[in-house]
Amino acid sequence: MDEKQKNDEKKKNRQYILLGSLVVVMIAIIAIMYFMTASNSNPSERELAYTELIEEVNAGNVESVEMTVGSTTAKVKLKGVEEEKTCIIPSTQAFIELMQQKYEEGNEFELLQKPTNIFVRISSTLFSLLPTILLVVLILLFFKMQGLGDKGKVYDSETTRSKVTFDDVAGLDEEKHEMIEIVDFLKNPERFNQMGAKIPRGVLLCGQPGTGKTLIAKAIAGEAKVPFISMSGSEFIEMFAGLGASRVRKLFEKAKKISPCIIFIDEIDAIGSRRNSSGGAESENNQTLNQLLVEMDGFDTDETIIVLAATNRPEMLDKALLRPGRFDRRITIGLPDMRGREAILKIHAKEKKFAEDVDLKSIAEDTAGFTGADLANILNEAAIIATINEHRAITNRDIEDAVKKVTVGLEKQSRVISEKDKKLTAYHEAGHAIVSSRLETQKNVKEVSIIPRGVAGGYTMYKSNEDKYYISKTEMEEKMVALMGGRAAEKIVLNDISTGASNDIEVATGIAKDMITKYGMSETLGPISINTEQDPYELQMLGEKFGDAIGAEVKILLDNAYATAQKLIRENRDKLDKVAEALLQKEVISAEEFQELIQ
Ligand code: ADP
Ligand code: ZN
Repeated sequence: MDEKQKNDEKKKNRQYILLGSLVVVMIAIIAIMYFMTASNSNPSERELAYTELIEEVNAGNVESVEMTVGSTTAKVKLKGVEEEKTCIIPSTQAFIELMQQKYEEGNEFELLQKPTNIFVRISSTLFSLLPTILLVVLILLFFKMQGLGDKGKVYDSETTRSKVTFDDVAGLDEEKHEMIEIVDFLKNPERFNQMGAKIPRGVLLCGQPGTGKTLIAKAIAGEAKVPFISMSGSEFIEMFAGLGASRVRKLFEKAKKISPCIIFIDEIDAIGSRRNSSGGAESENNQTLNQLLVEMDGFDTDETIIVLAATNRPEMLDKALLRPGRFDRRITIGLPDMRGREAILKIHAKEKKFAEDVDLKSIAEDTAGFTGADLANILNEAAIIATINEHRAITNRDIEDAVKKVTVGLEKQSRVISEKDKKLTAYHEAGHAIVSSRLETQKNVKEVSIIPRGVAGGYTMYKSNEDKYYISKTEMEEKMVALMGGRAAEKIVLNDISTGASNDIEVATGIAKDMITKYGMSETLGPISINTEQDPYELQMLGEKFGDAIGAEVKILLDNAYATAQKLIRENRDKLDKVAEALLQKEVISAEEFQELIQ
């Protein structure tokens, strides 16, 4: 925690204490007032009900009635009674008229009207206003804490300049490369403008929490030596209705004042989720989102502002956010591979003292699936453990203990991959890759990895073919076989199957259905298109038998694909083992490495 954060924290604590005491005072006052009114409404000895007063007047028992202007309480003195009584008069005007009438009718009593006592009046007014005043103070304070005032934190150029640079960001070389262009633009906007070059206004950083999205945004600001304004999307939704939009406006106003600068919006999915027409919290979000869209569109060419936004769920974002001129560039930040992990460990090891036996490389090997934040956390924990154990430097044992400690935390979030799971993933992905390599249309394997991505435990990536207008039947069939490769390898090698293939099977089934019902590729059913999505009764119209036939055809396609995949796996078992081995060792293998392995 740096100084600034500490101060913020202190300030916040003070505000909380103030807020707490105000709440207590207010509750006390409300309680007092409640009891006072309660005792008022509870007629005691000293009080007369209005009807009683009228009766006493009629009976001629009243000696005097004393009223104060502006007050509804009258003091009543009854004949022969020492004590004065009070009585609440519902309508003073009507009461005075009635009294005058009674007087004229011959009832004898004194009716006194006293001018208001200024002091009493002021204090009673104040007293009645007190809750309101307190409430206003409370609300103001609350707003302040919510950050209505100035929540966008400006790290001015000086602090950022000395702080984060690209050197503080380990790995992520490709991502950094893309960022250099943005840094150049922030440093030298005129050059780009003169050339008429369009620079991305918005860049979406996608990746799990802790993978370094904030870090990279700060590094861009640091490299370009421009201020960095940050804000979190979740701050917007916590707020009162209507505030989100105005906060967005203020954020951009501030940015325009200090431009060139960087705006960083963390958790943008909190405001930028898909719009829908329902009301309530959603419509509040819509306002905020709409304002964001307006601001993104309203940039002038002479404003050098780049908006970076981070999310772990890009698929949730409203499509409007991703249109050209808005967040039209996307950089995905994955989990670090072994080399990346070692580099991250090295950076965070800089200011720490290690014993000779410490080998960061072997720690990197043991921490598959860990994020940069997890790794930083491990070294910090290790330093704490070493201090507690009174070691002179951090030992390997301290680090192992720290890994265990952090792992337990991660296991609770089910983010740690066991050896068994790793093996299963390795064979599953190797299965996809090997089967693909035997299929003419699926050969272009670009990368195979057992580093989890999203919900998937690993992935096999293909080089994207040049733009194509048509997909042939053969290609569709082979795609299904490639998709079945994961499941087939699991079955043959481990003699068990897992849920890891569920997405593969879903995709394959989709292809099979499309082949039969959309592209008319069935031998027996012929060229026919059935759109059950648009018209659920279309299939009924064609008859039960037809539906059965479709089902049978789809099943045949899928069964054939699975059988072919299994055959290919059996035929290439040695290569499969090699690739799986390599995956377990390196986690990621490139196209070239893959080709070498299957030679
Ligand atoms: P995110 O914004 O993606 O949630 P952060 O940028 O806040 O992640 O990362 C949290 C911390 O983890 C960083 O402050 C840094 O200490 C560490 N970290 C994450 N990725 C890296 C990296 N690539 N290199 C160095 N440190 C990293
Ligand atoms: Zn798969």
